[in-house]
Amino acid sequence: MDNAGPQLLTQSDELRKRALRRTPGGVHSNVRLSGSQDFIKCARGAWLYSVDGQDYVDYLLGQGPNFLGHAPKHIVDAVFTACRDGVIFGGQHELEVRAAELVCDAVGWADMIRFSMTGTEAVQAALRLARAATGRTKIIRFEGHYHGWLDNVLMSQRDGKWGTASSGQLARHLEDSILLPWNDAARLADALDEHGDEVAAVIMEPIMINAGVIEPLPGYLEAARRLASEYGAVLIFDEVISGFRLGLGGGAGRYGVTPDLATYGKAIAGGFPVAALVGRADLMDRFGTGEVNHSGTFNSSVMATAAVTATLTSLVEDPPYDRIAEHGNALMAGLREIGAAHEVPLRVSGLPQAFHVSFGDAKVTDYRSLQQLDLARYETLASSLVEHGIWVTGRGVWYVSASHGQRELETALTRFDKALTEWVAQ
Ligand code: PMP
Repeated sequence: MDNAGPQLLTQSDELRKRALRRTPGGVHSNVRLSGSQDFIKCARGAWLYSVDGQDYVDYLLGQGPNFLGHAPKHIVDAVFTACRDGVIFGGQHELEVRAAELVCDAVGWADMIRFSMTGTEAVQAALRLARAATGRTKIIRFEGHYHGWLDNVLMSQRDGKWGTASSGQLARHLEDSILLPWNDAARLADALDEHGDEVAAVIMEPIMINAGVIEPLPGYLEAARRLASEYGAVLIFDEVISGFRLGLGGGAGRYGVTPDLATYGKAIAGGFPVAALVGRADLMDRFGTGEVNHSGTFNSSVMATAAVTATLTSLVEDPPYDRIAEHGNALMAGLREIGAAHEVPLRVSGLPQAFHVSFGDAKVTDYRSLQQLDLARYETLASSLVEHGIWVTGRGVWYVSASHGQRELETALTRFDKALTEWVAQ
């Protein structure tokens, strides 16, 4: 007989029971169906605290936005102060002018900007603008690159074939997409050779952070730039993750290749929900003339533009990039050392600002070669990491923020070592 007595429910269990009654799957974004189901009480700096008293060193950072750490005081204060005088006007205000200037100046090559709430919307605006400007319909995009959850961009691979990723998603909305392996300039050249006069845009993450944090091969972005121009297609960099994370100039700045349009989000606003499309004036002005529609009740709200203004001001005045690189490099090296000590083929690759952890030693340059790694094995380790107080997901992408310091480094490495010791012994 089991005499352990009744199992006590944790506060997270109780909340989850309530959540499941009113919220499908207990979550408001399907991305969160997997991963820890602990409820978070609060977050400060690089730390999350659950309702049950567990603390976590956070390397997920809300899927990227908390680039300056959780609830940076100067950004939260700026938003609260600004919102006391009104939240949304249905009219223009000074903060949105300031925010637009700051982002365009920081990005460097961008003439103009339109704010939206989500990266998904910014991508849609970019695609519509590219189609309007070229009078063409097709979009070239790449395996493993994520551009939001809407019907015309969401894709996944099932049984070796790429297609819709959701029940209810109409396959015909993907008919104008030409899907290619990334980092292969010859394949891109061939596709443009075949379909060039139909292609409105080539869209890619300039560094494929969503799948494996894979950098572009030397010369690849340059080739994409040259080919897009040659065939009259609009080159769109989806910098929703890389923007401001890799530096003020994002991926375009890091790799020295300038797109025609770029989408931003996440790190642009200290955790607040803001995204943006930036680009060349001759393209962007099509919104201004009213020729191309781009709308949104909440676009450029006081909250959004106060958050962007405070974030960009601090990125310019007190650039966190060296600090982040120092922490990220030390963390990557520490994880590798622990993996080696346990004699497991732990693979840590990418950049200190965002890196990927998995198992295997394949040479990875695109989504296909990424599949040679043992991604499923890392997923089981990720659950164990969360149990030991490191907040990550099974996708293997770790983000570093400006508020990760020596204490976080030591705690994370100690916890990683402990988690790996137990996981190896299982
Ligand atoms: N583009 C990229 C590269 C992204 O990573 C994401 C989200 N992870 C999006 C677009 C969509 O952004 P959002 O979730 O804000 O709609």
